[in-house]
Amino acid sequence: MKQDSWRENLRVRWQKIREEIPATVRLIAVTKTVGVETIKLAYQEGIKDFGENRLQDATPKQEQLKDYNDICWHFIGHLQTNKAKRVVECFSWIHSVDSLKLAQKLDEYSRQAKEAGRIADYSQVCLQVKLLPDENKYGWHPQQLWQDLDSLQSLSHLHFRGLMTILPLGLSQEEMFSAFTRLRELKEEIRQAGYFDDKFDQLSMGMSDDYKLAIKAGATMIRLGRILFHEAYPLP
Ligand SMILES: *Cc1c(COP(=O)(O)O)cnc(C)c1O
Repeated sequence: MKQDSWRENLRVRWQKIREEIPATVRLIAVTKTVGVETIKLAYQEGIKDFGENRLQDATPKQEQLKDYNDICWHFIGHLQTNKAKRVVECFSWIHSVDSLKLAQKLDEYSRQAKEAGRIADYSQVCLQVKLLPDENKYGWHPQQLWQDLDSLQSLSHLHFRGLMTILPLGLSQEEMFSAFTRLRELKEEIRQAGYFDDKFDQLSMGMSDDYKLAIKAGATMIRLGRILFHEAYPLP
């Protein structure tokens, strides 16, 4: 009974969101607050991209889901360098690369893991940018990122795919839209300056509260948790 209502709830939520967003936008279901049974229901509804923000919470779930081998796992949380090796091995995408030092570690671990056959391809990474002051969030200030781009570009065992951001709480709709737009512009400026390649085309931005604005501003990946999995969250 509980499972059935959960499934129905998820199905309605997912279908509504899918209907209203462009088919090109990749929807990542953030499962940090739910268990394996719910992830299985989501999978049965067609969701293949799952996001987790803590390695120690994610790996037991991944272990139980290892037969679901077409799941694509996305790491979206702040990453300490001592966990970077495992994250490379357990996640295809890392959205939250927020320092040069971390990128250098990931590059080395990605090289080692690929050489040893523990991963099929180098890690796909996004660079996390902090557009507005927020002491609770990590990420490059845009000026710092510009300074690090030469060094980042020299790391040849990562696929640099784009930028990611998380906005501070309490912004108006206009402020959110303008911040998301700045992230898109920053990505375009980085490409125009000749960094990376045309696969550097992703914008990972937008969560339950702000994904519509993020899509309007050009998001290519949205990361949704509560709107999919919390019955108390209003329907889209
Ligand atoms: C939890 C989390 C999300 C999902 O947030 P909701 O508001 O629940 O949709 C997205 N991105 C990151 C980095 C998160 O930690």
